[in-house]
Amino acid sequence: CGIVGYVGRRRVVPVVLEGLKRLEYRGYDSAGIVYLHDGRLIKYRSEGKLQNLENIMGEAIGAPSNIGLGHTRWATHGAPTTENAHPHSDCTGNLVVVHNGIIENYHSLRKELLEKGHTFSSATDTEVLAHLIEEYLDTDLRAAVTKALGRVEGSYGIGVLWTGMPDTLIAARNHSPLVIGVHEEEGGFMASDVPPLLPYTNRVIFLDDKELVVLKADSHTVYSLVSGEEVEKEVNTISWNS
Ligand code: GLU
Repeated sequence: CGIVGYVGRRRVVPVVLEGLKRLEYRGYDSAGIVYLHDGRLIKYRSEGKLQNLENIMGEAIGAPSNIGLGHTRWATHGAPTTENAHPHSDCTGNLVVVHNGIIENYHSLRKELLEKGHTFSSATDTEVLAHLIEEYLDTDLRAAVTKALGRVEGSYGIGVLWTGMPDTLIAARNHSPLVIGVHEEEGGFMASDVPPLLPYTNRVIFLDDKELVVLKADSHTVYSLVSGEEVEKEVNTISWNS
């Protein structure tokens, strides 16, 4: 299972697809991609191999979009179907989440959200996260994601994209790997492991548990999910051969 996210000057879909291929060794049963185009989120999902996803995407692979997320899923809650494949959306369809890990308390969160009127379109634990962020979202995406994750018990590496902040990805982790790649010209990257970043940059930031990143093409800021304060992180330069 794996996550890849990109924001920068390149067209996003090939960057994400190639990145997901570089994470195939982690295993998966389905895959999906989302990108922002003309202010709308465009989502493709498929069971089975990445080749299936590529096949249904067709010309969308060349879409003129510079921000998006991809996911390979290893199902833990809900069968490995297209409906359960990530990305998962909130009720408005303007917010998407990709997630690796397990939301242990998803059952009680789901019940609470159903009572508030949310409707669900998958059987995953992950979908509660999209709706929980929606519940807390006003104009500040970082605050909403921080509040939502404060309610979550379990493990997560997540990527979030919202049409209200079309130049920004949010990433966060707890007991699930996530690394950030940065490059002045290429932009900002996130991935479950280093290989997807290496064609573009060798400058990486290893997130620690309970950290969140606000990632843009030309900037990255890391925050603690516990205190909400900004955290100084080292940018590591890794050998191109690794
Ligand atoms: N628990 C989530 C699901 O079943 C994520 C699984 C994963 O790590 O890929 O959809």
